[in-house]
Amino acid sequence: MGEKYSFKNSGKAKLILRVIGFVCTGLGLIFIVVGLIDFFGAMGGFGMPTNFWAFFVGAPLLFVGGSCLSFGYLHAFANYSAGETAPVAKDVTNYMLDGTREEFTKTVAGVTEAVKGKEPIDEGLVCPNCGTKNEPGALFCDNCGKPLGKKCPACGEVNDADATYCRKCGKRL
Ligand SMILES: [Zn+2]
Ligand SMILES: [Zn+2]
Repeated sequence: MGEKYSFKNSGKAKLILRVIGFVCTGLGLIFIVVGLIDFFGAMGGFGMPTNFWAFFVGAPLLFVGGSCLSFGYLHAFANYSAGETAPVAKDVTNYMLDGTREEFTKTVAGVTEAVKGKEPIDEGLVCPNCGTKNEPGALFCDNCGKPLGKKCPACGEVNDADATYCRKCGKRL
């Protein structure tokens, strides 16, 4: 396998592949034509097809030849197909995105919400007065002593320092 792949990159191997490809494709086509002529000739009343086997020899030959040719011209094909299919691929991607955009937006919104919901716990409370980041759940700033949040007397939820009502239970703070 590895040998084959290294061969693929050498120009000489490609030349050989192209020659083999042309020979096999040519022979395959000849065999197929012979087989088909024999087959249709037999249908035309010349008895049983005797050379129809040629078709079954020609088909794999054509396949092998085609494979050799595609390997032999791999680089050219790759460039060609890349240039040709890139816009199509982009369209398909856009089309698929259109279909999944709503779902995608929902997912992103869900993730964002989850991250946001975690933020006060992960980030801790930032003092509105001096900007110091305090430990999660802290009620007063470590640095300046200003209140960081209002602890709800009813449910214990720590609300923003400027909150008027508890975000959890709605009680006036
Ligand atoms: Zn502070
Ligand atoms: Zn509350």
